Amino acid sequence: MSADLCELGFLEAADALAKGETTSAELTAALLARSEQLEPALNALTWRDAEAVKAAATAADEARAAGDERPLLGVPIAIKDLLNVQGQPCTAGSNILKGYTAPYDATVIARLRAAGCVFVSRTNTDEFAMGGSTETSAYGTTRNPWDPERVPGGSSGGSAAAVAARLAPAALASDTGGSIRQPAAFCGVTGFKPTYGRVSRYGCTAFASSLDQVGPMARTVEDAAAVYQVIAGLDPHDSTTSPRPVGDCLADVRAAEDLKGVRLGLPKEYFAEGLDPEVERLTRAAVEQCRGLGAEIVDVDLPNSKYGIACYYILAPAEASANLARYDGVRYGFRAAAEELQEMYEKTRAQGFGAEVKRRVILGTYVLSSGFHDAYYLRAQKVRTLIRRDFDRAFEQCDAIVGPVTPTAAFKVGEKSADPLQMYLGDIFTVNVNLAGICGLSVPCGFTAGGLPAGLHVVGPAFEDARILTIAAAYQHATEWHRKQPKI
Ligand code: GLN
Repeated sequence: MSADLCELGFLEAADALAKGETTSAELTAALLARSEQLEPALNALTWRDAEAVKAAATAADEARAAGDERPLLGVPIAIKDLLNVQGQPCTAGSNILKGYTAPYDATVIARLRAAGCVFVSRTNTDEFAMGGSTETSAYGTTRNPWDPERVPGGSSGGSAAAVAARLAPAALASDTGGSIRQPAAFCGVTGFKPTYGRVSRYGCTAFASSLDQVGPMARTVEDAAAVYQVIAGLDPHDSTTSPRPVGDCLADVRAAEDLKGVRLGLPKEYFAEGLDPEVERLTRAAVEQCRGLGAEIVDVDLPNSKYGIACYYILAPAEASANLARYDGVRYGFRAAAEELQEMYEKTRAQGFGAEVKRRVILGTYVLSSGFHDAYYLRAQKVRTLIRRDFDRAFEQCDAIVGPVTPTAAFKVGEKSADPLQMYLGDIFTVNVNLAGICGLSVPCGFTAGGLPAGLHVVGPAFEDARILTIAAAYQHATEWHRKQPKI
């Protein structure tokens, strides 16, 4: 069976291990061999340690042989290089964290570890998750498995490319303004950003704390839901996590067949100027297919969504400028050589951070500075409330909102990197979901004439994560897009 081991999805791998059809040692060895072969072309990973993976996988196999029946025991998963895994490097795609070793597990990691998962590799990311193409990583650009001339999206481009290219059956990623959903759409995988407060951020390198959320990427909605079930829930280490019970949605997700009785809202603002006609066609076809599955399609308005980009690019940099103050050459990773303290701080940050991170720290400091704080930061906070209210109103008329994830399919490497504003505009459909603190996912919904994947965005009210997973699963069960594979 070994030739097909890399094809196994997350739950399929769990199944194969339970049935004794393979071992974790065999499975992880196959994934690492494939990584070895494809990494020169993809650069999806920042770090992997074959010996450590082998030891963890063998320990899982031994535990299973000794009667341990945890369902995810020995199942491999890749981890965005933003999440702390004890004893491993955690670079956030930045030179400033070179040499830093995580002293503890992020809560999501501790939970996956307790479930028996094996961390098979660390995936590339835009520096501190700031970007939409993985081009700002200090480790170089990740390539899109569907077309290596193109970006995989970002910031979680490494996780998306790794899952699409079968280097891992699933991956953890993070989404501050779209970083799970946009790369999932660009790489033809399923990416799920849970409701803010549903998943702990403890041990996830902070970018913008009121927006950041950890979530899964996988090849199917079921697999994403299975990872979500493990990582979600109250965490005493993160006071923003909710005490609401997570529940178990996996059976519903698996059984989802039709959309009878489901009202899907279609915001006209999402089908405006700037949306690539091919992406529009694929999105509309997916919506029609949802109608065919029994969904009622209703028009909804999100009148303030046009302010989303401006609002997000004030608030996210403001929070980032505060969060990144900790990288001073004293506490973490890289320290520049200098004669005295002030000079050491300055040189460390000047040499350690890349251009996009510096741009955001400067922007964030500016919008928070006395004299400008009211005009920018406070105003953006008010707009954020209006955006949230738009969704509240829309969800009075529908159960979930559907639309495009991205205005275009994956763009070429270098096409937007010289023009930050062009890059930021690509986040138009995703940032509002983070600003409102609600949940959203991207599910594969077809290919452009040029063979590039597109994603259908399914957005739900806060804490209705199970609902959007079930809706997306019903759509996915009726389609074959997620089964297509990049030829690499
Ligand atoms: N592209 C957005 C940004 O650059 C979103 C990033 C993210 O979600 N981490 O801020």
